Amino acid sequence: MIFICRTGFATETESNTGDSRPLYDTACGRFPDFRSMNHIQKGRLKIRHELEAPPALRKFGSGWASGVLGLVLGLSGLGLVAILRFPGIFMMDETAKLIAHPAFRTGLFVLLVLAFAFSMLSLVLRSGKTLGMTGMGVTLLAVTFGGAGATALTPNMTPLYLGLDFFILRLLFTGFLFIPLETIFPHRDDQGMFRYEWREDLLYFLVSSMLVQVLTYLSFIPANTIMAVTVWTTFRMWVASLPFVIQFLAIMFLTDLVQYWVHRLFHRIPMLWRFHSVHHSAQAMDWMAGARMHFLEILILRSTTVIPMIVLGFSQSAVNTYIFVVYLYATFVHSNLGWKFGIVEKFLVTPRFHHWHHGIEKEAIDVNFAVHFPLLDRLFGTHHMPEDNRWPSGYGISGHPVPKGYWQQFLHPFRRKKRKPPLEH
Ligand SMILES: [Zn+2]
Ligand SMILES: [Zn+2]
Repeated sequence: MIFICRTGFATETESNTGDSRPLYDTACGRFPDFRSMNHIQKGRLKIRHELEAPPALRKFGSGWASGVLGLVLGLSGLGLVAILRFPGIFMMDETAKLIAHPAFRTGLFVLLVLAFAFSMLSLVLRSGKTLGMTGMGVTLLAVTFGGAGATALTPNMTPLYLGLDFFILRLLFTGFLFIPLETIFPHRDDQGMFRYEWREDLLYFLVSSMLVQVLTYLSFIPANTIMAVTVWTTFRMWVASLPFVIQFLAIMFLTDLVQYWVHRLFHRIPMLWRFHSVHHSAQAMDWMAGARMHFLEILILRSTTVIPMIVLGFSQSAVNTYIFVVYLYATFVHSNLGWKFGIVEKFLVTPRFHHWHHGIEKEAIDVNFAVHFPLLDRLFGTHHMPEDNRWPSGYGISGHPVPKGYWQQFLHPFRRKKRKPPLEH
């Protein structure tokens, strides 16, 4: 949809073109005209433009933060009630014990009370009532649907499930960990929480979480196949008997080594680059940006990097700890954190290191492939960390060749298109 402000400046807003520029028109200093839309479109866009409100309308005391909190907690509460109602569809095997614990229902009750309280606070503080009313509405819907006392409506019919619980718990945990840090110590302090293309990255986050079962199953096939056709018993026993710290560091190094070369191939081979270009299409970096990755790339990357971890016989505790740490680490290196790490930058990958991998300028092409140890890039000649503490001026691929929107990006690698991969130095 195009609308034109008094100055004659045309701004594209929400549209079928998949464009997702901020709704607030800074050139006009006003929001779009909602008159030509139906009620659902209007409601959705009103919520979106409230979330993407300019800094002046997000200040402390404006009711924006409480409105966002009320809405996020209310939606999370509604999702958790849906899991209690349909555990066979939305609950992972791994979280079943956690959800069955009585403390889970107490936690859900507290979450719904907080959602209600924050939405109420936003209604009191904010002149626009969209966030407060929506937060209140979804919280009341969650309570009506059964609230913390909800019981299962359907039996568990199949072993298959969607990881809605994984999505909500992952989003709450990672968001509450990184959003305060990015707000207090930002690299780019003009970048809001609901920045350019946040909805696309949230959708990537949702899809990879919901499909956690199929992704995990497929990712372990190569490693399990190697295990089935080779015998490593004595060696595996020796590895499992090593001290935990040694095992953890060995997994970190070996995984990064495999990841380095698979990642480099994704840049080098034109067909693979078409998949990986989706990850590089992000024009804003933060805790959610790393989630933008083509489904097949996630599969290839995970199924190759787990091979040393599984085949060499590391203990389950070392493997589980690494999986948790690598998730946090991958989020951290994409985050909008401006911390200065000094000498540590020479030994461990930091946000500045990985931001250079995503940099839009020429000097950032095909550099910094490692995700843990910059040593790998030094060894293989792809290290790039300007001594003057510079960061890249922007992110993405020059010319922005990747289309917008999840489905367009999903189909992008399969579409015939003449495009050169970036040249290796
Ligand atoms: Zn890359
Ligand atoms: Zn990345």
